Amino acid sequence: MPEIVWIVEDETDIRELEKTVLEENGFSCRGFATAGEFMRSFQEATKKPDVVILDIMLPDRSGLDLIRWLKEKNPSIGILCISARGEEIDRVIGLDLGADDYIPKPFSPREMVSRVRAVLRRHQSSPPPSSSILQWEGIRLDTARFHATIDGEEVPLTATEFRLLAILVENPGQVFSRENLIERLWNNEKAIMDRTIDVHIKHLREKLKNYGSCLQTLRGIGYKLDRPQGIRSSD
Ligand code: CA
Repeated sequence: MPEIVWIVEDETDIRELEKTVLEENGFSCRGFATAGEFMRSFQEATKKPDVVILDIMLPDRSGLDLIRWLKEKNPSIGILCISARGEEIDRVIGLDLGADDYIPKPFSPREMVSRVRAVLRRHQSSPPPSSSILQWEGIRLDTARFHATIDGEEVPLTATEFRLLAILVENPGQVFSRENLIERLWNNEKAIMDRTIDVHIKHLREKLKNYGSCLQTLRGIGYKLDRPQGIRSSD
């Protein structure tokens, strides 16, 4: 079964180019010129897309709204944002809302295809633990069910955040460089920028509540999960 990619893009030339290139690469595609058209079809479709390529600037609704909407409908669908130059802030918000990655316009069709494949891999490959439960202090991850709790309370994480946290929880105290994390999460796709990791870390830190300060940044080196120095575990 070919993987299904839906494209939401109001510029006909770009939409048709994306569709053609993806179909040449074996994907099954549908294109939509407006958010409304996409949302209607999504509701009706029996086979939902595996990945949605989303232009941020749409005529009837912001692509950012669509990310929110999609995440509510089905959080397991991969989302790849496309944004024009000068929309840096939208990209960051897009990632914060749960998009997996973004591509700045103009982009090469080959790059787009490799990003789509990377998003699919992230959503399909499971994390590597030996047991299905990973735990560090009050952070508990059920990797079989992609379910995370902090001190017994459920925390909604995106697929990427979950895998990132699983790596850190499995190796407490160990320092991971950005390059190392990118390699583990995305098989070292060169195109993925450091900034992507930063955004996922920032978002994860907010969701970790009391443990947020345990997800430490070591300037110029990388990240680790550990108690900040001088603070001891209460138990
Ligand atoms: Ca547009």
